[in-house]
Amino acid sequence: MRFSRFFVCFFLLISLTGFQETSNYQNELEALERQAMDCKEQQAAQVSQSLQEIRKEILKDMESVLNKADLNDIELKELKEKKSVTHHSYERLKKQMALYLMQEQSMYPYCLEGRILNEGKDLQTLYMHQKQLEEKCSQKEKRKVQFQLEIQNLQAYDKRVDKAQNTLKERFQRTDGYDQPVHGQHDPQKTIQGLQDLPVFGSIHSTKNDSHFSCLAQDASITSTSPYWGKVSDQGYISAGTWSYPHGGMHLGMDLALALYSNIYAPANGIVLYADTSYNSNDGYLGNMEGWPYGGGNTLCVIVSIQEKLYALTFAHLSNTIYVAPGQQFSQGDVLALSGNSGNSTGGHTHIEVFELHASLEQEVSYFQQGADFSFGCGWDAPHTQSIWATRIRPEEVITG
Ligand SMILES: [Zn+2]
Repeated sequence: MRFSRFFVCFFLLISLTGFQETSNYQNELEALERQAMDCKEQQAAQVSQSLQEIRKEILKDMESVLNKADLNDIELKELKEKKSVTHHSYERLKKQMALYLMQEQSMYPYCLEGRILNEGKDLQTLYMHQKQLEEKCSQKEKRKVQFQLEIQNLQAYDKRVDKAQNTLKERFQRTDGYDQPVHGQHDPQKTIQGLQDLPVFGSIHSTKNDSHFSCLAQDASITSTSPYWGKVSDQGYISAGTWSYPHGGMHLGMDLALALYSNIYAPANGIVLYADTSYNSNDGYLGNMEGWPYGGGNTLCVIVSIQEKLYALTFAHLSNTIYVAPGQQFSQGDVLALSGNSGNSTGGHTHIEVFELHASLEQEVSYFQQGADFSFGCGWDAPHTQSIWATRIRPEEVITG
């Protein structure tokens, strides 16, 4: 009895703490929502970062509630099994006793009395045990509902964070992706190394289920160039197109809104020029200038071959799971990376830019090696640009979802 009182206090404490956390989000989030609506441009980055921090707390809470809910489910299942076993024993004993009572007249009365008294005690114990298990089960069922509610609440908070981030993104268009002067430094370690191992297209080998190692083809007869553009994702939708954002402002790429950790496929056979996994997968906020190019977070640059033509594709804001390494070749349909929310990004999405290349693979690669120019000489100031290396094209023209 003393213990049960202790547990009651303990549970009360937990629910009080839970309540406090929830109301904290409410106040903090309301304040940030207001700021997202009316802050000045200089404050946008700070607001976005605070939103990202709140999201991390929400996700942490969500994970902890999910874990507790799982544990509760397991315990509930065990209790239900015990309850059913106890119920079965109780029913069996009850039937047995009914039988004794019916036979009472024809049996030795004194022996029978003893047995009924003994088993009557057992029956009473089983009955009590059954009641206790029922009570415990119903407590666990109640907890289950509470956990579901908590998860729904946290999901609603997470949606509000998303909405506030989008408000910021729409109000201050030009800060997404790396559509601004390039700062920072590229990392030569993340860049394709020598030209000596560079294959002619035609020596591409599938790297499906094989990460991080370059596989030069054994069989030179593999089709070199892909016949068509393949998909880059399963379920993405274009949240912002090229060349401008939905509400104005220049945008040099296409944004595919994707759930975190969605597959990014190779749309054609190709080779990796740059792959960087230095940053956290879900640390994006407006004004987070991590990555190369500036604000790109985890980035990937590849050259693909389609109908004998070369194209460069760049991906930004990826998770830190990139399955390919610089110099590695891949085939159409290989999973190159998992999407994320890194760098200057306000939610799960992948920013894609596409360049039609004018020079040979060797020439393009040696140009890229000089400074990992993700714009292939086209710069970041205007749409429809071209250089001796490339012409910027609208990704929507070649990539579908
Ligand atoms: Zn973008």
